[in-house]
Amino acid sequence: TRDDVKGFLTRNAFVILTIAAVTIGIILGFGLRPYKMSYREVVYFSFPGELLMRMLQMLVLPLLVSSLITGMAALDGRASGKMGARAVVYYMTTTAIAVFIGIVMVLIIHPGKGSRDEFTKQEKIEQVSPADAFLDLIRNMFPPNIVQACTQQFKTQYGKRVVHMKIAVSSVNVTEDANNSLFHEVTREEVIPVLGTVNSINALGLVVFSMCFGLIIGNMKEQGQPLRDFFDCLNEAIMRLVAIIMWYAPVGIMFLIAGKIVEMDDITQMGSQLGMYTITVIVGLLIHAIVVLPTLYFLVTRKNPVVFIGGLLQALITALGTSSSSATLPITFKCLEENNKIDKRVTRFVLPVGATINMDGTALYEALAAIFIAQVNNMTLNFGQILTISITATAASIGAAGIPQAGLVTMVIVLTSVGLPTDDITLIIAVDWFLDRLRTTTNVLGDSIGAGIVAHLSRHELQGADAEMGNSVVEE
Ligand code: ASP
Repeated sequence: TRDDVKGFLTRNAFVILTIAAVTIGIILGFGLRPYKMSYREVVYFSFPGELLMRMLQMLVLPLLVSSLITGMAALDGRASGKMGARAVVYYMTTTAIAVFIGIVMVLIIHPGKGSRDEFTKQEKIEQVSPADAFLDLIRNMFPPNIVQACTQQFKTQYGKRVVHMKIAVSSVNVTEDANNSLFHEVTREEVIPVLGTVNSINALGLVVFSMCFGLIIGNMKEQGQPLRDFFDCLNEAIMRLVAIIMWYAPVGIMFLIAGKIVEMDDITQMGSQLGMYTITVIVGLLIHAIVVLPTLYFLVTRKNPVVFIGGLLQALITALGTSSSSATLPITFKCLEENNKIDKRVTRFVLPVGATINMDGTALYEALAAIFIAQVNNMTLNFGQILTISITATAASIGAAGIPQAGLVTMVIVLTSVGLPTDDITLIIAVDWFLDRLRTTTNVLGDSIGAGIVAHLSRHELQGADAEMGNSVVEE
């Protein structure tokens, strides 16, 4: 029908626009690099990209809460229990495989050939036990103040900060920077690495709260109807906002990518160890994303994973552009529901949880990076220590917020659990912005394939529920 054709064109228009945006962004970025923009100029230049980030992040809180509440309220206790169990098994299996791949890759390739005296070692290392890490994780599941959980501060972004040094013109020779100066002073911009904070949400706490709340109002018969209608309507309205933002997304992605290429450090100056480390992470992530996850999808569903991933393209590219799986969440919803026709009861339930706790790429990276740092320090890890790293890397990936470079910060848990110097995180900062994008894309792919697999496994229950309600079946 005409609607089908129109729908088909719209979907492909998005994919074409997004791919074009990435291509133009890369060309623009490399084209502008020779001009060596100042930090401030890069900020101005990337502004349209920053806006996209903010728009997507704006939607995350209402989307996460309303989709989980409506998702849970729409299922009866047994159906949601089964679906939840399947999702948890999937998350645990894939995260364990990811950690395993990370460890095997770093042990085989061995990128960190001992060069300990090149690096200053931290004297005393505080030992954080894996038990502490787990307790903290569980603490976060129960935020004492639900409003505060909506504005949680996270340490993140081992990034760059510009230090402005204002020097009176009279006392120094005027440099070319003086042209940019608003005052009779020279402003020198010095970029130093810092650990910044961002305001985000305590997604883990909100997920737990929303799931319980949804389950309760689902069981409240007529009394719960106003709240069910309210959250249903909220969810629908937010998804309509997502549809509008999707048209802006290609523009934002183009500037995010171009801006990053303009400001990135010269890769030719990267040391060989760091180069090998980068390659090891990339290979590990590729194995997980291109081999393991699609194979798993095929084995369980007997459907073509390439078609499924094709439908996700816009979400994957958004993840690459934003390096935030929670900012990508709105787009992931759209792709799964509209392109891949995954039942809304599944996506609403599985996606917010997945985006919060299931981070295959991050888990793989945390384990790999920790062992790399051990190698650099000439420290041989025994089996028990590697096991500790796998466990804490899993906890760290669950605890990491879906925001840029969160994984770099939660890595402190992994390092301290085996007594590795946390200062050595600085060794890998230079390439983290790039690896972050790749692991975020892997994270989003893992969540989406999880939704596909859970939808497939739960198809009978969903059909049963449909029959009971006299609806027609959406999936299959
Ligand atoms: N940026 C990642 C994400 O949003 C988390 C990480 O830093 O590993 O999924």
